[in-house]
Amino acid sequence: MTQFWRPIHELHQMLVDREISAVELTDAILAQVDAVDEKTRAYLLVTRDLAHRQARAADERLRAKRDLRPLTGIPMAIKDVLCIDGVAATAGSRILEGFVPPYSATVVERLAADGAVFLGKTNCDEFAMGSSNENSGYWPVHNPWQLDRVPGGSSGGSAAAVAAGEAVAALGSDTGGSIRQPAALTGIVGVKPTYGRVSRYGLIAFASSLDQVGPMTLDVRDAATVLQAIAGHDPRDSTSSPRPVPDYFEHLAEGVKGLRLGVPKEYFVDGMEPEVEAAIRAAIRLYERQGAHIEEVSLPNSRYALPAYYIIAPAEASSNLARYDGIRYGRQAGRGRNLIEEYQATRQDGFGNEVKRRIMLGTYALSSGYYDAYYLKAQKVRTLVVEDFARAFKKVDVLISATSPTVAFPLGAKTQDPLAMYLNDVLTLPGNLGNVCGISIPCGLANGLPIGLQVIAPGFREDLMLRVAYAFEAATEFHRRRAPLVSVGA
Ligand code: GLN
Repeated sequence: MTQFWRPIHELHQMLVDREISAVELTDAILAQVDAVDEKTRAYLLVTRDLAHRQARAADERLRAKRDLRPLTGIPMAIKDVLCIDGVAATAGSRILEGFVPPYSATVVERLAADGAVFLGKTNCDEFAMGSSNENSGYWPVHNPWQLDRVPGGSSGGSAAAVAAGEAVAALGSDTGGSIRQPAALTGIVGVKPTYGRVSRYGLIAFASSLDQVGPMTLDVRDAATVLQAIAGHDPRDSTSSPRPVPDYFEHLAEGVKGLRLGVPKEYFVDGMEPEVEAAIRAAIRLYERQGAHIEEVSLPNSRYALPAYYIIAPAEASSNLARYDGIRYGRQAGRGRNLIEEYQATRQDGFGNEVKRRIMLGTYALSSGYYDAYYLKAQKVRTLVVEDFARAFKKVDVLISATSPTVAFPLGAKTQDPLAMYLNDVLTLPGNLGNVCGISIPCGLANGLPIGLQVIAPGFREDLMLRVAYAFEAATEFHRRRAPLVSVGA
């Protein structure tokens, strides 16, 4: 197995050189799933037959050297908030049990057209609400670096799958940090693209003004490869941008010499672990040695981003989740004596506590009499956050910070304290509100647990974000460290 625990670009070469076939590669990764998924519990569903069909088709392309794409024959995992035609989708919720979508998400179609192989649907917090994967309606995911720790969330299954060699790459979704934070906590790379860069058609909605789909990979080049495949306008998603997608490899290796890197002073928050702060300061020094100009900047309204997010996201969720009524999708309670009771029973049984909490908070914030005091005010704060970023990006090219103030915490440590859980995303969610793009890359270990470095770039400057991230990666070895999980043939 370990010989295949490699980034896409290396496996692509092996596939093209016919050192391995796509079927062999798929079988090797599935063997790793069989060996370790009982420990990580990263998958909700493994789609073996689909994977084999796709792998055989990829081998045809590889044999004929026809239509070869960087992802042809590459086994990937898909977060269970994204629809694959004919494959059960739950969004981590019991309320969607039994729902089989009749169409595929655009991102899924694009990967499939490139010849990627889908291994299965990965576990996540219910409707992507959470930071530890413990809000999954099914079971929690365990961090491959230390199994008694959380993998982060909400894309915890995708993160753990990549970090445990159970997938070469994965898709996640990020509304307030759900790609970047689990990437940080499992020592992989995760990208939240700018709002509008990637289609959300076929993404089960959480908070529609914030949700974005993005790659979770072993290194920055792979993130660029997957982003290149999924980015771009989609006529089926009116919020997707018509801007052309640049070639993310064109300037990737140009380094940071002469670039201005901003360090937001507010991002060294209270409660940040000293090892995390030390790793970020070391990364800043490395960039400085590479010729970047480091400047302290201020994002004064960041401190209001978290409370504003926890008005806006639940408000949108309360509206988006109104459709789960037991009639149209998935599960039906079957014990109501009339339609209204049936709706109530289905929602009572089907939704978990965190989802119910958010529906109540969101409905309250939108109700007449409270709308101005909460929802409208939060929207004004959102504008201030947008302006903070715009002001900072007049002075600097990108921003760098920690992704999460702490490393992975023990399972159960924060489940009784929603506020402590929400604070995990204090460094990532301003980026969703501010409509910028962000990446997390591995930058160190504290007591054997990964630390993530975040690079934030202006909207639609994923090219610059990737270039700055790659400069760090190319000069360090952190992305080559693998979780010490027992693997087949290791
Ligand atoms: N942890 C945040 C929340 O619970 C963000 C989740 C996400 O990005 N989907 O809302």
